[in-house]
Amino acid sequence: MRIVMKFGGSSLKNGEMISKTAQIVKDYKPEECVLVVSAMQGVTDQLIETANKIAEGLLDEEEIRNFVGDLQERHRVATVKAVTGEHQEPVLIDIEKLCSELEKVLIGISYVGELTPRSIDYVMSFGERLSAPIVSGALRSLGVESQWLTGYDAGIVTDSNFGRASPIWDLTNERVKATLSPVITRGEVPVVTGFIAGDMRGRITTLSRGGSDFTAAIIGAALSVDEIWIWTDVDGIMSTDPRMVKEARTIKVISFMEAMELAYFGAKVLHPKTIEPAMEKDIPVRVRNTFNPANEGTVIVREQEQVVDVVKAISVMENVALLNVSGVGMIGIPGVAAKVFSALAEEKVNILMISQGSSEVNISIIVEKEDLKKAVRILERVFADKSIVKDVQYNEDVAIIAVVGAGMRGTKGVAARVFKAVADAGVNVLMIAQGSSEVNISFIVLRKDAVKAAKALHDEFIKN
Ligand code: ADP
Ligand code: ASP
Ligand code: MG
Repeated sequence: MRIVMKFGGSSLKNGEMISKTAQIVKDYKPEECVLVVSAMQGVTDQLIETANKIAEGLLDEEEIRNFVGDLQERHRVATVKAVTGEHQEPVLIDIEKLCSELEKVLIGISYVGELTPRSIDYVMSFGERLSAPIVSGALRSLGVESQWLTGYDAGIVTDSNFGRASPIWDLTNERVKATLSPVITRGEVPVVTGFIAGDMRGRITTLSRGGSDFTAAIIGAALSVDEIWIWTDVDGIMSTDPRMVKEARTIKVISFMEAMELAYFGAKVLHPKTIEPAMEKDIPVRVRNTFNPANEGTVIVREQEQVVDVVKAISVMENVALLNVSGVGMIGIPGVAAKVFSALAEEKVNILMISQGSSEVNISIIVEKEDLKKAVRILERVFADKSIVKDVQYNEDVAIIAVVGAGMRGTKGVAARVFKAVADAGVNVLMIAQGSSEVNISFIVLRKDAVKAAKALHDEFIKN
């Protein structure tokens, strides 16, 4: 068996957990194995927050040095715990070098006073570049041969869309195979930094937040592995976010389509782009708990043999905004929608949901919150003369609720049950969309009502 295993930040939050991770991997040897690792828990957030403060002139040089010093200390302590004997010193040297590079980068930003998408990717890359050598060292300490590589050095080449880069597939598949296959065949375990890659000019890019899962799928597909395992801090994909609804239960088997819809609409346990490469190569993906490795977790496969539940899971996506484009001038004018969508697409605004009323005076669009300002700016520019579109309004306090299940296909009355349950909970629905996949009904509510709606739907559809 050849497996790609990805360990998330929570699996690597300290030296003890890194040792545990290394032990889990050792237990699977002599199977062939590639590891993909995230940054230690919270590190990516800290890097982003600090870089932003520096760009705004809120931190002086001493404070920058202190920040890097604390980060170095956290990684040093984890190394001393997880990496033993002769293997320790080289890891400590790697960490020291990386931290001194990071300090220079951050001080550079403080001089320039500006943070570009390219520089924030460079800053974020330190999270994974710092964790990977420790994990690799922890494996060597257990007698497992290992070396660490960045995603780019492992062969992942992307476009230059910093912050949300996409792989250049042919090149990536070729390079990943050429780089990693010989290492694996020698019996070593390569430890690859998740989330980060590089563009054609070798400049560091990132695959968007939570993107280490995607890295695992990219590598898995390139190597045509037997399975991709995502190790995290819950027992698998659950019927809803366990942090929101405590009755959530683990789903044993789920299809690629269902998992993709759930991930796309906010189930943070998987990055939404993870499924596609796996689905294309028909590679099963397992989601498992580092804190409870005895549990088998969830397996994601092409088709489930028997679908029992109509609705399998409910997801909530909160970091979104509702845009309303309206004006009586839109009536009967062809191509208004096309103009709206192509303007947004050109500026790389990601559209999550669309709905147009039959009255034609209104188009509602859901975008990611971080794109909202850009989207409003573009639409106001495109329709500046106000003859067609009179108004571009938005609401940032909304959430998408998605109800997912392959059993909905061909079952009558599911939508009625969904909206009755939500209405009975006293929640107002602002906008509805049904995906053509028929495995998902999604709609918009005010953010303050999101948990209430998810809970009502869980009570209605999920049997414990
Ligand atoms: P990692 O650091 O391992 O990548 P994440 O925090 O990105 O972990 O993802 C795991 C978290 O996703 C869980 O702790 C859980 O709170 C959240 N989550 C949201 N929706 C779901 C779901 N449907 N099933 C399981 N976990 C979910
Ligand atoms: N460390 C990155 C993030 O926090 C990638 C990941 O964890 O998957 O977004
Ligand atoms: Mg994650």
